[in-house]
Amino acid sequence: MVDFARINRERKQSNLPNATALALNASVKEEKPTHPVGVSVLLTDSQGRVLLAKRKNNSGAGLLSTPGGRLEKTETIEQCAAREFEEETGAQLGPVKIIAWKEHFRYGNHYIMFYAHATTYTGWLRNCIPDKSEEWEYFDRFLLTETNCTEPQDVLALLPRPTNHHAGCVCIYCVAPA
Ligand SMILES: [Zn+2]
Repeated sequence: MVDFARINRERKQSNLPNATALALNASVKEEKPTHPVGVSVLLTDSQGRVLLAKRKNNSGAGLLSTPGGRLEKTETIEQCAAREFEEETGAQLGPVKIIAWKEHFRYGNHYIMFYAHATTYTGWLRNCIPDKSEEWEYFDRFLLTETNCTEPQDVLALLPRPTNHHAGCVCIYCVAPA
């Protein structure tokens, strides 16, 4: 048991900061951020479809989700995108463009998510974390909804139109309800 009272008396005599406050500060710094920053990688293929896998873990279990994860202290958002992509798919991500960011209050967290769009990668896509998700597959974004996909609809709308939906396409997904 640390005798803070004694330490503080001694610190007061030598005009040093309060030891209790220092200890509290130290313990706060060790905790994980309460509002973490995350990166979601939206990789689209030559047909404009998005790479997704069904999640198995608690947050968003059963829903389609992109590769991605939490930003670490020593990396940029782009580096985080590349690292998370490789950790989850085994492939190396090409250049990314941040197309959106959003604040989320869900799964008991407040977090800030950046959305990184890429169109190229090198290597082979495989499921590197089978405990976390099922196999990676490309999906037509017009088939993704709030009930089957964790990625926000307004962010998916920023992606290029899949090639099977030409400009002026009148399918039920491309034509907004009157
Ligand atoms: Zn269409």
